[in-house]
Amino acid sequence: MNEKEPGVAKSLCIAAVITGVFMLFILVVILAFSAGGSSGESLYDKDDPILELDVDTFSAAIYGSKKAHFIEFYSSWCGACIGYAPTFKKFAKQLEKWAPLVQVTVVNCADDKNMPLCREHSVSSYPSLRYFKYNSHNKDDGMKYSGDKYDINKLAHDIAGLAQADAQKQNPESWPTFLPLSDTTTLEEVFKSIGTTSYLAIVVQDSPSVIAWANLINYHGNNGVKVAYVTQNHPIATKFFSDGGVHALLFSNGNQEPLWKSSSPVDKWVDVQDKIDELIGDKIAASGPTVHPINAAPVIAAPSNPLNNQYEVQLVDLKSAMSYMLYKEIPRREEIRDEPMAVLKQWMHTLKKYAPGTTPMRRLFFRLDEWIQLQSVVTANEWITKVDEIQQALGNPLPKEITWMACAGSKPNLRGYTCGLWTLAHTITVEAYKQEKHNTAFKPVIDVLEPFRAFIFHFLSCSECAQNFTKEAEKNQLHLVTRPEDVYAWLWRVHNFVNKRLSGSLTDDPSFKKQQFPPKSLCADCYDANGDIDEAKALPFVFKYYSNIKTDSTDNLPGYKVVEYKEGKTLSAGQRHLNPKFQVHAGKVDQLEANDKVKNVLDASPQRTWKDIDGYDGLPDSGRSHYYFIFLSLIGVALIVIYCKYRKNRSKFWKTFYYKNDFKLCPWSSSPVKQNIV
Ligand SMILES: Cc1cc2nc3c(=O)[nH]c(=O)nc-3n(C[C@H](O)[C@H](O)[C@H](O)COP(=O)(O)OP(=O)(O)OC[C@H]3O[C@@H](n4cnc5c(N)ncnc54)[C@H](O)[C@@H]3O)c2cc1C
Repeated sequence: MNEKEPGVAKSLCIAAVITGVFMLFILVVILAFSAGGSSGESLYDKDDPILELDVDTFSAAIYGSKKAHFIEFYSSWCGACIGYAPTFKKFAKQLEKWAPLVQVTVVNCADDKNMPLCREHSVSSYPSLRYFKYNSHNKDDGMKYSGDKYDINKLAHDIAGLAQADAQKQNPESWPTFLPLSDTTTLEEVFKSIGTTSYLAIVVQDSPSVIAWANLINYHGNNGVKVAYVTQNHPIATKFFSDGGVHALLFSNGNQEPLWKSSSPVDKWVDVQDKIDELIGDKIAASGPTVHPINAAPVIAAPSNPLNNQYEVQLVDLKSAMSYMLYKEIPRREEIRDEPMAVLKQWMHTLKKYAPGTTPMRRLFFRLDEWIQLQSVVTANEWITKVDEIQQALGNPLPKEITWMACAGSKPNLRGYTCGLWTLAHTITVEAYKQEKHNTAFKPVIDVLEPFRAFIFHFLSCSECAQNFTKEAEKNQLHLVTRPEDVYAWLWRVHNFVNKRLSGSLTDDPSFKKQQFPPKSLCADCYDANGDIDEAKALPFVFKYYSNIKTDSTDNLPGYKVVEYKEGKTLSAGQRHLNPKFQVHAGKVDQLEANDKVKNVLDASPQRTWKDIDGYDGLPDSGRSHYYFIFLSLIGVALIVIYCKYRKNRSKFWKTFYYKNDFKLCPWSSSPVKQNIV
């Protein structure tokens, strides 16, 4: 064997290990940089008899399926969805045995990857319920359910009605016929028709026989009990009942005397199921249809949340709220036109004038406003492209990655966007007051409050929140606000009204309980001797609070925690505030934009782009990843070259050491080893 081979092999091996480790490192870095958006924690878990679908599984599960699907499109951060989830779980549990014919299903639209799916189905408010018929082929087969979703009995009856209509139209092979027994069919004949099945349930109901249909679906495929139904005039019905109400009977096969006969009219399908279960549940349980395993989405563990101070106005939260609003909430519908378009124009104009933040942030709204005012119809893609284009020209003042700081919840689906939106709205009202307090032409309602209310109504995807807010705006006499200072006072009052309503609800984050604002811990002086808020003291506090935008970084979380309030006092406070140099008056932004335009016309040179304030130099996300990949690869190659060079030099050194020094054990010794040995 060549004596150099082991050394070379060892070198190659080390080089391979280094390269491998390095490539792994690059992969991790790329993944870290490309991860974006929120994954949206599911509101349902694997114990719920609910099929959770996403953009990758939706088409295969729904289109061409031999089942109908009743789908809740929800958003895991939406208060109304959080509040509705227990009801929907209960409903799904009741309909568990319907799964072979009608599958209760959910899709989480707060999960970024599902956005195109939800947009395709025109889901712009949550929760949104749709019935997808047997053998659906495309999105148009999804029928919007607009009944009372909280009345789960009515909901089940309505679904039974939809399934029956579906069966009449499509006549699916594996489904029951949903037809009543003919008036001439005798009980004896029905017993014969069910063969060896032990029990027969008969529901008496005229059309629409929703209770009968619901039970037909529920017991379809059950080998222990069969369900049939008759109309009120059928001899079986008239033999047992005379009050004309909906009734039910349970027979042992072959026995003309019923095991059970409803004593009063039945008004819920589930009452029949409960009675059958009570009487023969143990005998028919094993004969039920096989319910296919539920493909519930994995439960994502809630990340541990550093208990930030919830009472801070942080620039990070404002930026994230603006970004989520522009990239996620506004383009939820496929097309913006008509009233929503008019509302969007008003809101962009308000943001242009009063949005908080740095100069590039305000220039972003200036340009968006200028552009949107000229449009009549904008698609979601056109909107996103425009926002991206302006963002890049201004150095990406808004992040694509959403990060919450004072608005972070103890779970990913709590607080977040709506907290950021409230914070943004309060900051805008305070800014509007500062700018317009001496302007007699300023109209608080037209210029600020109504654009916000209308924006919430049309663009806050939590539909119930949006409707509640409009009702609350009316109740709190929005139209009567005239004094400039009432622009922020009104919003403060209404928000406290909302806090009171939601306190203790499922959307109330247990780690950040809703309180009247400002809480005593922030402003003890804002309370009178009876413990009630003293408006005269609270309002100046609110003004000061929303004038103080902090720029703490999420990399360097502030050391103070919510627990560091003691005896009504904050023990430590944030140090960093938005540099007043960046807090520019709208007039200055107008001037900057006008100057840019003049400059463009004069030198016809490409418009000066803003240096990226986040250090990305205007590169789009994918470009940024490539940039890092190339950069890190170059470092990797350089490291490998240096290592090889080092190995080469080292072996040269050893060759010199052994061969050129005449095999002396110690090259510096005067007597060669060979001689010693000899
Ligand atoms: C317009 C609107 C209507 C909503 N309606 C509903 C609804 O009907 N049902 C539902 O479940 N959820 C609703 N939400 C969401 C809900 O109000 C909260 O935003 C959400 O539950 C998160 O609460 P939070 O604890 O982060 O505090 P938030 O209420 O979001 O408040 C954010 C921050 O604002 C400050 N603040 C609190 N109160 C005031 C005040 N009065 N004045 C000034 N600053 C204040 C505090 O620092 C607080 O941390 C609505 C949200 C909005 C924007």
